[in-house]
Amino acid sequence: NLILSFESSCDETSVAVIENGDTILSNVVATQIKSHQRFGGVVPEVASRHHIEVVTRCFEAALAEANVTYDDLDAVAVTYGPGLVGALLVGVSAAKTLAYVHHLPLIPVNHMMGHIYAARFVQPIEFPAMALLVSGGHTELVYMPAENQFEIIGETRDDAAGEAYDKIGRVMGISYPAGGPVDQLAHTGQDTFHFPRAMDNEANFDFSFSGLKSAFINTVHHADQIGESLNQADLAASFQAAVVDVLVDKTSRALKKYPVKQLILAGGVAANRGLRDRLTQMMAQFQSTDLVLAPLKLCGDNGAMIGAAGYVRYQHGDFGDASLNAEPSLEFNWAEDAAE
Ligand code: ATP
Ligand code: MG
Ligand code: FE
Repeated sequence: NLILSFESSCDETSVAVIENGDTILSNVVATQIKSHQRFGGVVPEVASRHHIEVVTRCFEAALAEANVTYDDLDAVAVTYGPGLVGALLVGVSAAKTLAYVHHLPLIPVNHMMGHIYAARFVQPIEFPAMALLVSGGHTELVYMPAENQFEIIGETRDDAAGEAYDKIGRVMGISYPAGGPVDQLAHTGQDTFHFPRAMDNEANFDFSFSGLKSAFINTVHHADQIGESLNQADLAASFQAAVVDVLVDKTSRALKKYPVKQLILAGGVAANRGLRDRLTQMMAQFQSTDLVLAPLKLCGDNGAMIGAAGYVRYQHGDFGDASLNAEPSLEFNWAEDAAE
C-alpha cells in the first residue's frame, strides 16, 4: 500500500510517500518559518501564499524521491483540519485534484491524529493507548480504547504549551518559534523563580498555561522597571520546569485512571528534551505501559505522520470525495463513528 500524503495546516508545506502506514519512502518539508519570523508569529495570508508557491514542487519531489509514479499509488491523504483555513485549502485542493485526475481514493486526515501517528514510525500502536499531545495550538490527553477511536479526557483551558513557549520567548527576545531555543537555554539554568503550576492539584486532566505566561511576563517587566537584570537561563529553566511538572503530573494521574498499553508523546512540543527526560523517568512506575516518543524529526508538522494516520483511515474505509472542505476547528469526534 502506497499513500501520497499532504500537510499544509500551518507554516509547513509537506508531502510524503508512505508504504503500509509505517515506512517513509519520502517526506519533503518546506518550512516558511523565516517569512513569519519578522512578524513574531504565523501570518495566515502569508502562509497561504507560500503553500501555493511550493505545493507542486513538494509533491513532485516526494514522488521523485520515493521513485514512484501515480500508477503505483493506492490513495491520496490530506490534512483537512484543524489549522488555518487558507493554508489547509491549498493541501486539500491539491490532494482532491490529484485524486480526481489519477482515479485514487481521497483520505481526509485530522492533523492531531497525524501527530499521534508519528509514533507509528517507532513501533506499532497497541490499544488501549493514551497520547499526550502537545503542540502550538493544542495540549490534550487523548484516550484511544481501540484503533481509530479518540476521546479527549483533558485539554488546555487557555493557551497551548507551544503557544506559551512562543509567547515567553518573545519577551526574552527569542524569535518564533521559541520552543527549541528556550528548551536549550533551560538546560543551562536552574528553577530559581518557582512559577505557578496551574491546576496541578485539581482532580481533572485539564491544563492552563496563561497564568504561568503572565507570571513570567510580570517578572520580566518588574525587573526591567527596577533596572535589575535577570539570569536568562534560570528564567528559561523555571518556565520549562513549571510546564513539564504539570504535563508530567497530569499524565501520571491520567494513566492511573486509564491503564493503557502505551503512552505516546507527540506534537511539536514533544521535541522538548526536558519533557522527554522527565516523562521517561516518571514512566518507570508504570511497568505495564510502554512509553513511545515520537521521533524528534517527526514531532513538528510533516506529511509522513499524515500518511501513517491516513493508512488507518484507509483501512477503515473513511474516504472523502470532491466535496471535501477545510475544517479549521476540526475536533476528534469519532467516538460516535465507532459506536455506529
Ligand atoms: P497544532 O499542531 O496544534 O495545529 P502547530 O502545528 O502549529 O499546532 P506544531 O508544528 O505541532 O504546532 O508545533 C510547533 C510548536 O512546537 C511551536 O509552538 C514550537 O515553539 C514548539 N516547539 C518546537 N520545539 C520545541 C521544544 N524543543 N520545546 C518546546 N516547544 C517546542
Ligand atoms: Mg509549524
Ligand atoms: Fe501541528
